[in-house]
Amino acid sequence: LPIHDAVLGQAAGTYGDTVALIDGTDDTTTLTYRQLDTFHRRIAAALAATGVRKGDVVALHSPNTLAYPTVFFGATRAGATVTTVHPLATAEEFAKQLRDSSARWIVTVSPLLETARRAAELVGGIEEIFVCDRADGHTSVLDMLGSTAPEPQITIDPAEDIAALPYSSGTTGTPKGVMLTHRSMATNLEQLRPFIPMNPGHRILAVLPFFHIYGLTALMNAPLRLGATVVVLPRLDLVQFLTAIEKHRISGLYVAPPIVLALAKHPAVAQYDLSSLEYIVSAAAPLDAGLAAACSRRLGLPPVRQAYGMTELSPGTHVVPLAAENPPPGAVGKLLPATEMRIVSLDDPDRDAGIDTDGEVLIRGPQVMKGYLGRPEATAAMIDADGWVHTGDIGRVDADGWLHVVDRVKELIKYKGYQVAPAELEALLLGHPSIADAAVIGVYDTDGNEVPKAYLVRQAGVAPDDLTADDVMVYVAERVAPYKKIRRVEFIGAVPRATSGKILRRELRDREQADEEVIEKAA
Ligand code: ATP
Ligand code: MG
Repeated sequence: LPIHDAVLGQAAGTYGDTVALIDGTDDTTTLTYRQLDTFHRRIAAALAATGVRKGDVVALHSPNTLAYPTVFFGATRAGATVTTVHPLATAEEFAKQLRDSSARWIVTVSPLLETARRAAELVGGIEEIFVCDRADGHTSVLDMLGSTAPEPQITIDPAEDIAALPYSSGTTGTPKGVMLTHRSMATNLEQLRPFIPMNPGHRILAVLPFFHIYGLTALMNAPLRLGATVVVLPRLDLVQFLTAIEKHRISGLYVAPPIVLALAKHPAVAQYDLSSLEYIVSAAAPLDAGLAAACSRRLGLPPVRQAYGMTELSPGTHVVPLAAENPPPGAVGKLLPATEMRIVSLDDPDRDAGIDTDGEVLIRGPQVMKGYLGRPEATAAMIDADGWVHTGDIGRVDADGWLHVVDRVKELIKYKGYQVAPAELEALLLGHPSIADAAVIGVYDTDGNEVPKAYLVRQAGVAPDDLTADDVMVYVAERVAPYKKIRRVEFIGAVPRATSGKILRRELRDREQADEEVIEKAA
């Protein structure tokens, strides 16, 4: 099925008057399933009447709003491919994505209109900029809701036609446009369905950005599955987030590890009634078992459930079923149906690593992307001739089939021939009561050895003397093998993170590089 039918097809009839979406910024604006269904059809009709043709690329440039899914599915119903754009992208970044994706249409919101206009000017060839709210001189999506134009008569081939063109997070390099067909996305929702059951009356808080495939999937899952209600927040603001959980009696959260960290450690959490929560799902970056347990304990919840995936995999391959009673701590899940996995040796990729042994995770299944747009070489490097996706992640699987993800192959620090996973050290550091946040990368010492360096944020109220670099190095040295010791420490105001929650170690490396250049110049 096309993705809009897979998500909304049944829901409109079965849960018509159930509230699908609530605007978490005013708590009053809502959309029912029937409205979502009707409105996305009218948007499809209006877009087609304006000139949007099958195969056109529509750039959706907006924070999370109620209009977001309505426009997304409206555009796919019109036969378009939606490329989702980071709402904080600069005009230059946006222009790059417009050029790369050959987008011809933009849908934005009035606060971001200037950026969208400048981006459109930079690339040229944009037919029209629509706004979800109102702005002089631009067609509003609100007006499309009254469209009497006929629904476009197009046929979608789910196996071939590209529904979405999200960009990978750019954690390891340039973000790449990932071609996801209607079928790969719809299939992935089907694969996930049995493991995260929902009931009408169930309430989800959507705080992860919809432009990222994880946030989008978490959103699509809830309407797809039996009429849950989704409270939508435009950005992560801890107070707004906690207030929304309390006020809307939220039952389930899809988050990334930084939110688990906040729930486990932030003093503000204690001031809210979060007793409605039944479960928390975390994905997108490594989550330490100790941290997950601290979060669950503090909130009186069952263990935080993890899921694993990547943009190129539509995105899911593993999930810890909500019903699993005692999932092993730290596991990211079990393999989804119709999906195959291999863990290959890091030294010899032709050999399987074996049970309980670290190796690179390889995935094959119907959720694999069609490829990176316009990048045949990058596609070939990612998907081999036998259809296996080389995830670039290090994992191990136990005898019961639970996958543990260690870190990315590229992020491993090689200290004198030993391999150190930054995520393991970050987890250890986060266990220290005076540390609020931590990131670890490899830096080079004067002898040219790569050594682990920690960037740390002190907990609020902890004075510099109460937590020194030496304290931290001793703390870690007492708990790890000598080759894993932290050998450099720097205190910083905040750990750089992508909106999807990933630590931007690349930025820390750039900063390190810049510092070195300054030192060299001075010398
Ligand atoms: P880019 O590919 O552009 O460098 P990215 O890999 O961060 O960016 P995404 O597709 O958003 O872009 O992220 C997928 C990656 O997120 C996975 O390859 C993996 O490294 C990480 N990830 C996802 N879920 C988990 C998890 N549960 N535990 C550990 N890591 C995870
Ligand atoms: Mg990636």
